[in-house]
Amino acid sequence: AACVTTNGSVLNVLSPENCDIEILDNGRTINDFIDNKIKELGSEDSEQPFYVANVDDMVKKHLRWITTLPRVKPFYALKCNSSPAVLRTMIALGTGFDCASKGEIQLALSLGVSPDKIIYAHTTKARSYIKYARTHGVNMMTFDNEDELVKISLCHPTARLVLRIAVDDTDSLRRLSLKFGATLGTVDKLLGRARELDLDVIGVSFHVGSGCTESSAFKQAIADARHVFDIASLLGFQMSLLDIGGGFSGRDDVGVKFEEVSEVINGALDEYFPSDSELEIIAEPGRYYVESSFTLAANVIAKRVVLDDTEHSDILEISPDKMIMYYLNDGLYGSLSSITLAPSLYKFVPYLPTADEGSEQKYRSIIWGPTCDSIDKLTDDYWLPELHVGDWLLIDNTGAYTVSIGTDFNGFERTHIYPVVTAETWHALNLSHA
Ligand code: PLP
Repeated sequence: AACVTTNGSVLNVLSPENCDIEILDNGRTINDFIDNKIKELGSEDSEQPFYVANVDDMVKKHLRWITTLPRVKPFYALKCNSSPAVLRTMIALGTGFDCASKGEIQLALSLGVSPDKIIYAHTTKARSYIKYARTHGVNMMTFDNEDELVKISLCHPTARLVLRIAVDDTDSLRRLSLKFGATLGTVDKLLGRARELDLDVIGVSFHVGSGCTESSAFKQAIADARHVFDIASLLGFQMSLLDIGGGFSGRDDVGVKFEEVSEVINGALDEYFPSDSELEIIAEPGRYYVESSFTLAANVIAKRVVLDDTEHSDILEISPDKMIMYYLNDGLYGSLSSITLAPSLYKFVPYLPTADEGSEQKYRSIIWGPTCDSIDKLTDDYWLPELHVGDWLLIDNTGAYTVSIGTDFNGFERTHIYPVVTAETWHALNLSHA
């Protein structure tokens, strides 16, 4: 990790005292950590679900970003996962932050993020939030409509505004331009209104949607942004910021591979925004940085073999065509709502920590979350060897839009997060800072 440029003292920002990070020394691996944690919980008679947050993975993602998209500065989208270890890792790596609310701005500032490293990237903001941003020196914010411009002119007249445009996101699994973004036909009028209100518009932003499956969406969006820069220039604005949003896949087996999207982005940037020292290019990646870095360990707290009425309930053997229902202690109301709401974005692949795949009989299984609601279901029709109450299941790639969305509905506790880092990465981070 020699070329990571870290920010501030890594020892301070990410220290074990500050965020409970565990340094994996003596060659211990994440799997060792998980095995030990499961044993430890067992000895305490606890079956609490937990996440392991792999800081090495986030650092690797950052290295991949800075080598693959060298012209684009990442402003991590805090909404995706704002747990302390994630935020502190991003601070240590020197990223900026995309905040969507007063609460998110507050959180970033409380960790020492400088206000000029924050973009308030929400186009429809409460007036009190805009005033809060102003009071705390957060000046960069997005807009996409005239009413918002009027609000901003009253609440933060010296804001540095970024016009968010709607782009073609038909090939994204979660489309955002249905809700946000000015259409190209309205840009002229909007910029004219900004002029009248004496507001400073410094750039353009877009978001191709979460889970973008077509890298050409970025090319078209960058071309559209160029068009807006040209209109702005005719109206007397000197734009200096291009924000290419989020939408980058967090894993290599879902959506378009990061390197493939980046190649298209780099080509489009060179074509429409040839190297220009005056222009700052940023992005708002969320999922990219954290999705693959979290693994959830959840416990099978209950099990029900589905019998039909003709059978005796005292059967000892489960026949191969039986269906078994399992109840995990994390689910839709816990941290896993995204898995149910957008199954194509999140492949739900639970596995046993010590699986002896292949040799065992598998049964059709339904996996439920723990609450009393029947929509709290994680999967239908999943094939698993027979599990027992007290078994653990692991689910990888659970870092994006999971813990940040969770609730404690029904009184089930929120899933605890254990951040870990290998001694090697820990030293590399600290050395690169020294
Ligand atoms: N920026 C904005 C304005 C968003 O709304 C979102 C997600 O909803 C993101 C960035 C992060 O997107 P992703 O996690 O797909 O990178």
